[in-house]
Amino acid sequence: PLRGKVALITGSTSGIGLATAHVLASNGADIVLHGLMSEAEGQQLAQQFIQQYKVRALFDDADLTCVEQINRLMERSVADMGSIDILVNNAGIQHTEEIDTFPASQWHAIIAINLSAAFFAMQKAIPAMKKKGWGRIINIASVHGLVASVKKSAYCAAKHGIVGLTKVAALENADQGITVNAICPGWVDTPILSNQIQEFADRKNIPFEQAKREIVSTKQPVPEMMNPSQIGEFILFLCSDAARTISGASLPMDGAWTAQ
Ligand code: NAD
Repeated sequence: PLRGKVALITGSTSGIGLATAHVLASNGADIVLHGLMSEAEGQQLAQQFIQQYKVRALFDDADLTCVEQINRLMERSVADMGSIDILVNNAGIQHTEEIDTFPASQWHAIIAINLSAAFFAMQKAIPAMKKKGWGRIINIASVHGLVASVKKSAYCAAKHGIVGLTKVAALENADQGITVNAICPGWVDTPILSNQIQEFADRKNIPFEQAKREIVSTKQPVPEMMNPSQIGEFILFLCSDAARTISGASLPMDGAWTAQ
């Protein structure tokens, strides 16, 4: 169903982004892979997509803390692939610490990567989508875009921010054939959780794998860590024609976390 569409997924060298790239490519989309990975590894990943899915693919390693590099990524994607029809703002980082001692450098990096980068990417993508009269923007927020947890000040600020940004972008483009939505996942099994799981394991004096199972229930009623491809399948649905009137929404996929 996505044959002829180009999808740019930030942070698609790992976790949710990589799983989403697989889902969209297996449905025919050409893919711009992006993330922090060596050029050689990135080229290898792009080759794997080209061979496995018979789609076009390219890799870019723009550092999203740098606006010039974001602009270069967007311009290069349009130049090489012809357009960006689907933009998934997914790249993100985490640092957990109480506000009292939270390092300024971590605050700035989290706001830059988890929030500002989505703004700058949209700024480049939207004019081209308007010209085509079709576009899908999916921002990967989090349950922490809707509710809070201790030690996640920068992350919650960025994720609440992206929920607001999603609403504005949806309103501004409501009559342009462009939908803009945020997905708000609960626990998803990816490397971004490693530090939090390790801390939990150390505190409880239990093995990592046991901590991974138990940490879920500290917040999430459905006692199961999600698989990243579940988020990818949700994104695929938001790209479909059936989802054309879903816009400006912040959609939890959180095992009833925010139902409480
Ligand atoms: P991950 O660590 O597996 O992937 C993060 C990706 O972001 C990687 O591809 C990495 O290269 C890229 N990235 C990080 N810093 C970058 C930078 N400066 N410039 C360019 N790229 C950079 O983590 P993930 O869990 O797949 O996270 C994806 C998104 O999902 C994030 O926005 C995260 O906040 C969100 N999320 C994750 C969970 C979860 O439980 N895993 C829950 C809710 C939301």
